[in-house]
Amino acid sequence: MDFTPHQYHLLLIALRDAGYTFVPMEAFAEQQGKKVVCLRHDVDKRPLMALPIARIERHLGIKATYYFRSLNDPKQPFVMRQIAALGHELGYHYEDMRLAQGDADKAFTHFREQLAYFRTFYPVSTICMHGAPTSPFDGKALWDTHNYHALGITTEPYLDLDYSKVFYLTDTGRCWDGFLSSVRDKIPQFQDQWTACGLVFHTTQQLIQGLPKIQQTFAEQPHSILITTHPQRWTDNRLIWWTEYLMQPIKNEMKKKIIRNKYTIL
Ligand SMILES: [Zn+2]
Repeated sequence: MDFTPHQYHLLLIALRDAGYTFVPMEAFAEQQGKKVVCLRHDVDKRPLMALPIARIERHLGIKATYYFRSLNDPKQPFVMRQIAALGHELGYHYEDMRLAQGDADKAFTHFREQLAYFRTFYPVSTICMHGAPTSPFDGKALWDTHNYHALGITTEPYLDLDYSKVFYLTDTGRCWDGFLSSVRDKIPQFQDQWTACGLVFHTTQQLIQGLPKIQQTFAEQPHSILITTHPQRWTDNRLIWWTEYLMQPIKNEMKKKIIRNKYTIL
């Protein structure tokens, strides 16, 4: 089975053996272009499933970054404390524009309240948009009229990173080439170049075997890697694994319909 904690462990070891070092998002913007990997985890749901991933990283001495949403499971505060105690970075996975139905002032007030709450768990300095594919409101539109830097936030990965120096991988669709069915979690201006270079991987094993190709492709230019995962997809529990597996094509079709019919894509 792919997308299990074991496969994730193998991916981290392969990256380490290929000479990459790991930095959390709070240090990544400063180091982009160096041979570093940032592990970003969007904890969209089932927060307990983030713990095995966080423990694997801790075991390997890696500090990763975990983004949590404002509304979620009652178990989330417990998980956030555990993950911070394992030495990882916490950040806010914001979707305030969706919650405020597009009212930017209301959304910003909610954003500030949530940021203050999150900072009771960790000195949060990075944030990351939750894609919310079924919402007509792009979370990043909040920053057309408001400024997160003034709140002590240094990095929003969709807005503050230079993707000419950062190769982006995401497990959207529970594969590594699901960018076609992603509504907002994508870097379109660079994705075409990466695809043209053959940097398209489906399984985790293919990604591991493709690491030399990534390094060859970027041999002449500085590059870092940003890997986004959704920990609820990475499980040894066969019931949850098969549920995700069977639901994914349906979700992908829904997202493709959204892309075709409605919204502006990042
Ligand atoms: Zn999300």
